[in-house]
Amino acid sequence: MRRSSFARLMLAILGVALFAEQDSAATRRPRARPDAPPPVIRSDTRLLVIAPHPDDEVLAAGGLIQQVHAAGGKVRVAYLTDGDGFRDGVQLEERGGTPKPKDFRGYGRRRQTEARAALAVLGLADDAATFLSFPDQGLCKLIRTYWSERRHPYKSPYTRRDRPPPTEVLVSDTEYRGEDLTQELAQLIGDYRPTLILVPRKEDQHPDHCAAWFFLADALGDVRRVFPDYSVDVLNYIVHFKDWPFEDERSALPLPPGLNGGASGWIRLPLTPAEMKTKRAALSKFRTQQHAMKWFLDGFVRTNEVFSRPAATRVALPLKHDPCS
Ligand SMILES: [Zn+2]
Repeated sequence: MRRSSFARLMLAILGVALFAEQDSAATRRPRARPDAPPPVIRSDTRLLVIAPHPDDEVLAAGGLIQQVHAAGGKVRVAYLTDGDGFRDGVQLEERGGTPKPKDFRGYGRRRQTEARAALAVLGLADDAATFLSFPDQGLCKLIRTYWSERRHPYKSPYTRRDRPPPTEVLVSDTEYRGEDLTQELAQLIGDYRPTLILVPRKEDQHPDHCAAWFFLADALGDVRRVFPDYSVDVLNYIVHFKDWPFEDERSALPLPPGLNGGASGWIRLPLTPAEMKTKRAALSKFRTQQHAMKWFLDGFVRTNEVFSRPAATRVALPLKHDPCS
């Protein structure tokens, strides 16, 4: 009798516990991860924006650049390419015909001039821009196939160049090889010592953007070997991801659907109306891009910008596979 009472009591307790567990499981909703706070911006902030093409820096971070500048911090933009492999854009400017290498090169020079004008609108001086002039549409090929001196450098099918113009070289003898691009970035970072780096996220669907992440991460490894105490906050941005953000025309920039917020959770940086106006004015300086795809540029002028943090920045190139095609 005492034993059966005890058993009933235990069953009752177990039942309550099971019920409680089922109940909480049934009512539990998948909770969105809270946003992470924006990075702290101060007068000693040294921002480096890695832009695969001229205009990416303003599309992704025209507001953040203004905020760093307004706080008295420093800003530099490293353009990996001049954006000189955009055939449709070149044809539009040349009004038909088959563009020649000189037309692609001229287009790249125009885009450099536009980028300087856009940075001036954001309050930056001419020396904020560093053009590495690596091959537009060719960066992912440098990660594996055209990595080292074991084979000839990559040759752009657009400009017919196999190295940057001499005026744009940081490390002597730089050619279109992956290890050369890593070296150039490492040199730039080692000299400038940014406290904050913005670079495309590897899930960005433009191969040059995805490749930019791998080169930055590889270069950071080189910098840390020389300066073991160096630390930097790395933020990712996205420009090309499916239809994002054009399927949503609200004034706020939505989060890219299906992507998690990385190591920190998403970071939504609010922009003031004045910052939005200046960002739009900066984007208007990219005349060639306004000509080719104004709708695309306009899509990034919103009440906020979106960033995330990578889980890890440890990458060692070359890779055996192409991560970006
Ligand atoms: Zn781009």
